Amino acid sequence: METLWVGGLLLVAIGFGYLWGRGWRLGEADQGGEETGSPAYFRGLYHLLNEQPDQALDAFLDVARVEPETVDVHLALGNLFRRRGEMDRALRIHRNLIARPNLPRHLRDHALYQLGLDYQKAGLLDRARQVFTELVEGNRDYLPAVEALTEIAEQERDWEGALRWRKQTARIQGNREPLTESLIHCEMAAEALTRTDLAKAQQRLRRAFGADPTCVRASILSGQLQSLKGNDRKAVREWQRIVDQDPEHLVLVLDELVAAYHRLGEEEALRRFLRETLAEASHPGLYADLAAHLAREVGAGEALEEVERGLLAHPGSAELVGSFVGMWKDLRPETGACGEVLEVVQPYLDTARAGLSRFACSQCGFRSGHMQWKCPQCRRWGTLRLQAA
Ligand SMILES: [Zn+2]
Repeated sequence: METLWVGGLLLVAIGFGYLWGRGWRLGEADQGGEETGSPAYFRGLYHLLNEQPDQALDAFLDVARVEPETVDVHLALGNLFRRRGEMDRALRIHRNLIARPNLPRHLRDHALYQLGLDYQKAGLLDRARQVFTELVEGNRDYLPAVEALTEIAEQERDWEGALRWRKQTARIQGNREPLTESLIHCEMAAEALTRTDLAKAQQRLRRAFGADPTCVRASILSGQLQSLKGNDRKAVREWQRIVDQDPEHLVLVLDELVAAYHRLGEEEALRRFLRETLAEASHPGLYADLAAHLAREVGAGEALEEVERGLLAHPGSAELVGSFVGMWKDLRPETGACGEVLEVVQPYLDTARAGLSRFACSQCGFRSGHMQWKCPQCRRWGTLRLQAA
């Protein structure tokens, strides 16, 4: 109820502003005998403050004539209902506003946009798309509607549509978002790979690199494409490119990369790659994964030294401490009292590591156990990073 109360106060403030302005005009209007909408507004505010939203809504809808300066009151009320998830009420007030014949164009556009948001929030995407499209047809530079259409297209995985709307956004704003474009081409490439349409995947990846040559996901998918074609050497080359692009993303393909090296029978080259990449790794999460692979390739003894070096470089990394304790236990089962301590510590470390989300959005802080190329919270592309755990 607190939101309603705060929202109500806001409306009272706007309402009094309106009445004050109205009062000034009443002085003139009285002489001309013009009717005012004030009583209906007062009635609406009274019901709102008494937490009677339906009666408040009826009173506002009863206002015979919506003046441009009172449209804000209607819009604020509509937003209030939408925020509270009362979609029927929000829709009623916005539809009513749009039906007013005297509404100036820019205010009608704004009300139409709000109506689209109501439908979108209610999950009626077809209707939302219809409203936003109508708005953009009348005003092709109406950016919020173009952005809403982009979001709907992406939600529906209509990638061609998403690219079209993003092009329009770029034209309005005067700047492109190359990584986002590239990641959308990657979505199409990934879908083509799933249905083993390799030619289509290849074509999309070419466009992805064309939009942004530094796109890591394009490299990941290119490696997977080559792997599906049975060309492990090319796959390894594609994945190795990630070390120069954005090394921490290597954790996403490390298992596949190691498997490809094994299929090629190039064990020595694999060990060299793991050691060289470890030496350069600045991210503890990547370090821990590389060390775990190295332990499998060269034995825990040698890898333990690597993890010790990593711990010195990244003190306080739960992932590295966990790896260290695990390897140390494997190597020295006869450690006596020290071993008992490790037995006690291990479950805590495991719990601590299990509770960590490996990826987090650099823009909004959203956390996820797996990589997502579009943040589900702030809806931005390419913002999830490997966490320093
Ligand atoms: Zn985010």
